[in-house]
Amino acid sequence: MSVLPSFSLSSFQNNYTRSQLIGMGNPDIIGESYTSKMHKETAIALAKMKTAAAIESIQIEVVSAYRSFQRQKEIYESKYRSFIDQGLSPEDTINKIIEFSTIPGTSRHHWGTDIDIIDSNAPQPENVLQAKHFHGKGPYCKLKEWLDEYSESFGFYEVYTDDPHRKGFEYEPWHFSFAPVSKPMLKAFIELDLKTVLQEEKIMGSEHFTDDFINKYLQENILDINPDLL
Ligand SMILES: [Zn+2]
Repeated sequence: MSVLPSFSLSSFQNNYTRSQLIGMGNPDIIGESYTSKMHKETAIALAKMKTAAAIESIQIEVVSAYRSFQRQKEIYESKYRSFIDQGLSPEDTINKIIEFSTIPGTSRHHWGTDIDIIDSNAPQPENVLQAKHFHGKGPYCKLKEWLDEYSESFGFYEVYTDDPHRKGFEYEPWHFSFAPVSKPMLKAFIELDLKTVLQEEKIMGSEHFTDDFINKYLQENILDINPDLL
């Protein structure tokens, strides 16, 4: 970090509170519904991208945007209880959950910068968020091709790419992040003492989060993403 010439970087990072970074309240979040709540600058950039895509008859529709800590906690804890009930150990339960879901407090959706999107002009499959719909003859191929070409010019980057060497979360061709805001937020987030945060927030099973587990989760699930977002 010391090689960075920018004198303002650290003060910029400090502008994000612990609450903002873990989804417990953010004055920059606007919108009312599950699919419209997002960071105000993300919303402006998304509106521009939607307008541009519409010219090509692609109707970008947000399936998921800002998600609060509380909501992620509900998702996580219901999975936790169900795997424990099936007889899994706490360690196996946690590892199974994080194949597809984040630990509450660590979701990029907490920042309001990340969105899951589909093309509502396409014929809709039953479960929309599946990678196969974005490839081959899938209904979202046209959206995928358009995003590959243009999304970055609007500031939106795919997070969980199909790079076969990438670890952490599975490939998600629907999940995009507004880099101008999410990059400094990620830098601030990784400065938090994650283990302490998760214990303070009494996440179910957090007594099983060892230092090794936390380090692996940080390196693989939080940081092994599209390098353009680091
Ligand atoms: Zn997502």
